[in-house]
Amino acid sequence: LKSPYSGGHLEVIVGPMFSGKSEELIRRVNRSVIARQRAVVFKPAIDTRYHLTRVASHSGQSAEAVAVGSTQEARAYLSGEGGLFGLPTDLPQVVAFDEAQFFDAGLVPLALELADQGVRVILAGLDLDFRGEPFGVMPELLSRAESVEKLTAICMVCGAPATRTQRLIGGVPARFDDPVVLVGAQEAYEARCRVHHQVRS
Ligand code: ADP
Repeated sequence: LKSPYSGGHLEVIVGPMFSGKSEELIRRVNRSVIARQRAVVFKPAIDTRYHLTRVASHSGQSAEAVAVGSTQEARAYLSGEGGLFGLPTDLPQVVAFDEAQFFDAGLVPLALELADQGVRVILAGLDLDFRGEPFGVMPELLSRAESVEKLTAICMVCGAPATRTQRLIGGVPARFDDPVVLVGAQEAYEARCRVHHQVRS
């Protein structure tokens, strides 16, 4: 991996669903692209093969992205080790990860390595899962970041700033032990404040 310039660092953007994390990531990436910097955005793929796609916010903005099945695929893409697309030979100035909470633990060393090589690394993700527990790799990213932005949404019950994501299954709050993927269930997510966030035991 070759460095384009010094001054690399980690920027983390967190908050509940609908707090504007993707909006903010897209804003930062698009500004860097306007300034003629090269930016690559990664997002988790459902399948294991990578493909070109877009990241989109709930309010409609979007940016080009590469969907990857693992951190290793993101690393391979950046290293230019064989792939489907025109592969970069130098590191981009900006590397962003959306939905960072769904990446494997390898995201932490990759992000640190990129920052050490002079890359501006932007990571957006849910700080808490639907139970209100720290989500995956996010705690470690938050600890190691130079800059952290915690965004809030608006509580769908009272209008207060929302810091939590309410999971509803068939219209009622999900249980702590409900599986993350429920086949055939009527699921919904809402932004909620601390008072109105409910988890059934
Ligand atoms: P995130 O990536 O954090 O889920 P997005 O950037 O995708 O957030 O979407 C943010 C947008 O979601 C807001 O600009 C707004 O249009 C919409 N939205 C929907 N529900 C809410 C809510 N309860 N509070 C705030 N914004 C909401």
